[in-house]
Amino acid sequence: MANTYLYKPHLVIVISGPSGSGKSTVIDALCKADETLQLSVSATTRKPRRGEVAGVDYHFLSKTEFEKSIRQDHFLEWAAYGDNLYGTPKSEIADAREAGKDSILEIEVKGSLEIRAQDLAPARSILIFIVPPSFATLEKRLRRRDTESESELKQRLDIAKSEVREIQHYNYWVSNPQGGVKQAVQQIQTIIGAERSRVDAKLIETINPLLGVDSEN
Ligand code: 5GP
Repeated sequence: MANTYLYKPHLVIVISGPSGSGKSTVIDALCKADETLQLSVSATTRKPRRGEVAGVDYHFLSKTEFEKSIRQDHFLEWAAYGDNLYGTPKSEIADAREAGKDSILEIEVKGSLEIRAQDLAPARSILIFIVPPSFATLEKRLRRRDTESESELKQRLDIAKSEVREIQHYNYWVSNPQGGVKQAVQQIQTIIGAERSRVDAKLIETINPLLGVDSEN
């Protein structure tokens, strides 16, 4: 029988990885397989790519609108990536929490570290980095995708190298080999499962009163 009285954490699952590492495909599969995961839709000043839908893939904002949202403190974090701005609306996390779901964020490294540095209580963040098999594969995937100009592609590859250097700040890493999406998805499901069962201070706080124990002692 499902446990109904123990505290359930609200996880803010942050997934990063270089452009072309296959993050979106992995996250898509994760959300389809687990309806208690809710994807946080970011805001961006980037122009929509072919097939991208406003409010589903991103909230597409003008630079002026984005800057206004920064001033109004609407973002949990935001960062510049290439020539554009990207940010996580606080409302996305609040909505997921209200629906009793864990949030899943696909964001770059600077924003991830900003989240890691924050106390999100009663939520808790986990940082997962998706590693591509090699930089050559990354370049091949980006060229095949054909969504960037040559100079944007070079910029993304340079950013990829600087991002992989930041892996030390993440809690977990997952490899996403060629044709290995299923394996990467399973690995992340295992991590999420373990994190949902983590015994933390908040759990103890909710258990003690049930046992008649004073948590001060
Ligand atoms: P793309 O233009 O390929 O959709 O995204 C470029 C980079 O921005 C990716 O690394 C993506 O994960 C990151 N990104 C997307 N949304 C956000 C966000 O809300 N905050 C931050 N910091 N990065 C984001």
